[in-house]
Amino acid sequence: MKTHQFEVVVVGAGGAGLMAGLYASKSASTAVISKLYPARSHTGAAQGGIGAALGNLEEDRPEWHTYDTVKGSDYLADQDAVEFMCKEAPGIVYELEHMGLPFSRTDEGKIAQRFFGGHTNNETTKPVKRTCYAADRTGHMILQTLYQQSIKNKVQFYDEFQVLDIIKTDEGIAGIVALEIATGEMHVFHAKSIIMATGGWGRVWEITSNAFAYTGDGVAIALRHGIPAQDMEFFQFHPTGIYKMGILITEGVRGEGGILLNGKGERFMEKEGNAPNVKELASRDVVSRAMYQEMKQGNGVDGERYLYLDVTPETVNKYAALDGRTRPDGTPYVVTGEEILGKLPDIIDFCETYLGVNPVTDPMPVQPTAHYGMGGIPTDNYGRVVVDKDRKEIMPGLYAVGENGCVSVHGSNRLGSNSLLDLVVFGKFSGIEAANHAKNSEYIPLPENPTEYAEQQLDALRNADGDERLSEIGREMKEVMFEHVGVFRVEEGMKEALEKIRELKVRFKNIKIDDKGKQFNMDLLNAWELSNLLDIAEVTTAAALNRKESRGGHARNDYQERDDENWMKHTLAWLEEDGVRLDYKDVVFTKFEPKKRVY
Ligand SMILES: Cc1cc2nc3c(=O)[nH]c(=O)nc-3n(C[C@H](O)[C@H](O)[C@H](O)COP(=O)(O)OP(=O)(O)OC[C@H]3O[C@@H](n4cnc5c(N)ncnc54)[C@H](O)[C@@H]3O)c2cc1C
Repeated sequence: MKTHQFEVVVVGAGGAGLMAGLYASKSASTAVISKLYPARSHTGAAQGGIGAALGNLEEDRPEWHTYDTVKGSDYLADQDAVEFMCKEAPGIVYELEHMGLPFSRTDEGKIAQRFFGGHTNNETTKPVKRTCYAADRTGHMILQTLYQQSIKNKVQFYDEFQVLDIIKTDEGIAGIVALEIATGEMHVFHAKSIIMATGGWGRVWEITSNAFAYTGDGVAIALRHGIPAQDMEFFQFHPTGIYKMGILITEGVRGEGGILLNGKGERFMEKEGNAPNVKELASRDVVSRAMYQEMKQGNGVDGERYLYLDVTPETVNKYAALDGRTRPDGTPYVVTGEEILGKLPDIIDFCETYLGVNPVTDPMPVQPTAHYGMGGIPTDNYGRVVVDKDRKEIMPGLYAVGENGCVSVHGSNRLGSNSLLDLVVFGKFSGIEAANHAKNSEYIPLPENPTEYAEQQLDALRNADGDERLSEIGREMKEVMFEHVGVFRVEEGMKEALEKIRELKVRFKNIKIDDKGKQFNMDLLNAWELSNLLDIAEVTTAAALNRKESRGGHARNDYQERDDENWMKHTLAWLEEDGVRLDYKDVVFTKFEPKKRVY
């Protein structure tokens, strides 16, 4: 076992972890630990862009961004946090620009902005160009920029180290335990502040846009230490994943004028009850549900469970003319194949590679795909982990940020391009706060055997000598979650899912791991990750089963209406010996009264 000491240790090197690490390193010794090489973090897959009311192409205001985010969240977001994020947004985008992020540009050389669902001019209610982008590889550029800056600022990186546990003694947070993947050796990082930034958990579901590493490690580790997870029932299904594969086709495609068509060639988003005003640019929960209903009614393409996303110039121009869409200078919106290629190069490349379809000439087959966890470890605006329902008790020295945190700015449904924003805004402030905490506190002594709990977990996996296959348990979990805790949910289905997850957790104790070695034992680590996914699936399902209403990403056929009287509250879930314990905490309101959402 090796021991290291840093004032601040960040777990995760995605956009959130790098921003937090960069800011912490300005005043404290800082290490960033990541199971992946930093540039392989999922932030690098973010295509569409980052939301900020710069108003570069048309009038826009942070207050409009705030309202849209609250509305998009189906009023479950904490409004003080949303105000904070949207106000900070323009400044932080310029900060990224000054760090060297190569944004796409307008003709005048300003940062280019595009339409994204749910972002509107609050006066006209028409879509507004708010999403700043670097072609369709914005996340990749954020990651590269922040990584360079972190290296320059002498952040110490531990790449391909898998964090297995936080060290929590009676006195408080003392550090973390990580396994060096190449050698199998245990490392203890003694620290004053720990920032969890481990990303999401889309791998719970069968069809997902998420990378293989999205196994919810941070949330699962927190749950095992008695820390609750918040709002886990709200998981976003993005409308446009490549059929069967789930690989994401960015919302930017619809922002550039792409149209959703059913098997009969109808533009179903304009139907009454869907989103006759903003159509394809409604928020994601609304579009995913409309797609699901179309397919259920037999309107999928060739009767199959997919629809078309069409961004061919012919279709885009036809519907732009019908919608009366214009360019900023007032001329009609007309695109050419070259323009589409210039704005969406990676998407076109993916489709050609994976589908043999060229989106400039043919429509893309798509279906909703599990995409983003709105919930996570509860925090305040400075990333501090808040463990009680009254928001009075924080856990000193522990922070969470990015997708594994829940501030909550996304409430029950996140608007596109608000996650990248969340990463950098709250990453920055939690980095500053974690360094402050470190400066004003002493190291808490390490316990005698800091790796004990992590070793126990691995030994249990290593020594299990049953006949269950990991891949089979994983497959059954993903299928039951996609079927019953997916876009639409009902009581019976969720009960079945919960029973199944519990059965799988029992069977999991009987697995067999073939690789008994130490070096690069991915078999062992994948088993540990599956145990995290199972815990998260259980918490998600229990929280979903109990919430008897439909709101944002949680849509129930048996309770179709939003019920503000009884359910305008955040869920807190604790994972205990005998199952999941639930409690609820108030939503913070500042100025927006809940209204029915109309798109
Ligand atoms: C395909 C796709 C496209 C998207 N497009 C957009 C978009 O255009 N705009 C937008 O706003 N949002 C978008 N999102 C959402 C957004 O990209 C993510 O929510 C965000 O990038 C998450 O960032 P993060 O820093 O929290 O986590 P990540 O970037 O995933 O980083 C997680 C880090 O944690 C590390 N880690 C995890 N577990 C451990 C462990 N046990 N030990 C050590 N390290 C660990 C990983 O190595 C990684 O470095 C997209 C998401 C996907 C999947």
